[in-house]
Amino acid sequence: MATKQLHVVMLASPGVSHLLPILLLGHRLVTHHNLHVTVLAVTTTATTPQSLSQLITSFASHLSVIQIPAADISCVVPPDAKVATQLCVMMRETIPSIRTTISAIDSHPHVLVGDIFAYESWAIAEELGIPKYLFVTGTAWFTALFTYSPLLDKQVVGQYVDKKEPLEIPGCTPVRPDEVVDPMLNRDDENYAVYLSQAIGVTLADGMLINTWEDLEPQTLNALRTNEILRSVVKYKPVYTVGPVNKRYEPDGLKGEVVEWLVKQPDRSVIYVSFGSEGTISAEQINELAWGLELSRQRFVWVVRPPNGHVSDGSFFKPGQSDTTRDYLPEGFLTRTQKVGLVVSSWAPQVEILNHTSVAVFLTHCGWNSTLESVTNGVPMIAWPLYAEQKMNAAMLTEELKVAVRPEVLPTKKVVGREEVARMVMNLVEGEEGKVMKIKVDMLKEGAENAIRENGSSYISICKFIEDCWSQIK
Ligand code: UDP
Repeated sequence: MATKQLHVVMLASPGVSHLLPILLLGHRLVTHHNLHVTVLAVTTTATTPQSLSQLITSFASHLSVIQIPAADISCVVPPDAKVATQLCVMMRETIPSIRTTISAIDSHPHVLVGDIFAYESWAIAEELGIPKYLFVTGTAWFTALFTYSPLLDKQVVGQYVDKKEPLEIPGCTPVRPDEVVDPMLNRDDENYAVYLSQAIGVTLADGMLINTWEDLEPQTLNALRTNEILRSVVKYKPVYTVGPVNKRYEPDGLKGEVVEWLVKQPDRSVIYVSFGSEGTISAEQINELAWGLELSRQRFVWVVRPPNGHVSDGSFFKPGQSDTTRDYLPEGFLTRTQKVGLVVSSWAPQVEILNHTSVAVFLTHCGWNSTLESVTNGVPMIAWPLYAEQKMNAAMLTEELKVAVRPEVLPTKKVVGREEVARMVMNLVEGEEGKVMKIKVDMLKEGAENAIRENGSSYISICKFIEDCWSQIK
């Protein structure tokens, strides 16, 4: 058996932040562990930026990537359902196409790996008689809260957000009630019921791979492996750390507008501002952020999107194309800041930016991919979480790892004021706080590099995963 090549089929739900880590993990399994990997990317036209096809193409030399159009769910869920609910339903409704696609793959798969929205596909693995593994693209702490949620549901009465005390997860750092993941914010909502089924569904896998590493989350990983209550919720299945699985800067000789601009700036002088692949903020918040950046008198690159509530014409606008960015910014902002700032519409080459020596700070929405990209490039952060599990990521970055600061929100206006933005930016770019954080984030960066190098903790964990897969193959 051991002379054969293990064939892993990896299933990604729609969205760059789900597909990207699947592609990256697949790439690592091929290049470092000599496996055969087929990635099934479920995609929708609505959530697919143009860069998605570029992304898939960039992995094509190592992985076979098959795109599967997501099922139309417009008759199944209301259009205002939460994104997480839509993804669960979309993946469930797409199962027949996924099954057909898998059965048409030339070489028989030995293992199925799916993200947290792909749990309905465990049935296909069972039909094929192959093991199935969950790949959590977020933290171990999120994994603990997520899988423990069905028990929490039995213990806690009333809304989580109304609780005064943090929510206890056995063996882990408690989670503040207002920092729970989105579907837990309203327990009366149908989205919460879908979330609980999902939390149970994912644990029916034969094990879980997590995009973290031992030194980053030792306490939580220990709890997932040894705390009797947590072990029971993950059904005594093994937990493998495979991270950081994240995009690295690979010089390709192409220099876009942003990098050309960065080259001209002094070392560690620029703040990069971006809210991920989907994040948007209100018009009022865009205004305060713009004034804050201007008041800070620091250099910046800012990826600006239309404010939430803006009625889009449906076209995903790229730099230079149907650029309406100036409509959302304060009058005269672009002119006044043209010597120190660069505003990019909707999408920027993030990894290239974070890798550049002139970048000092990342103001981020704390999506886990963005967070890892910042850490592995040694860039301290301003944590500005928006949705999903981002508030937990922000709490971990600021309170535990101390590589980020978090803004105070003006209670009366529910926005971060311009003075606060300016204060944080100045402190991190020029002040002592930024220097201390840079030392801490560089230590994390080193830990991350150690984890993934040959015989590092994540490398060994992946080897163990492969060994365990072989042992289950009949
Ligand atoms: N990204 C990018 N350019 C952008 C915005 C996002 O390249 O202008 C990439 C970013 O590098 C990251 C991913 O999109 O790899 C976003 O994933 P993340 O988990 O940070 O957040 P999400 O978009 O899911 O909220």
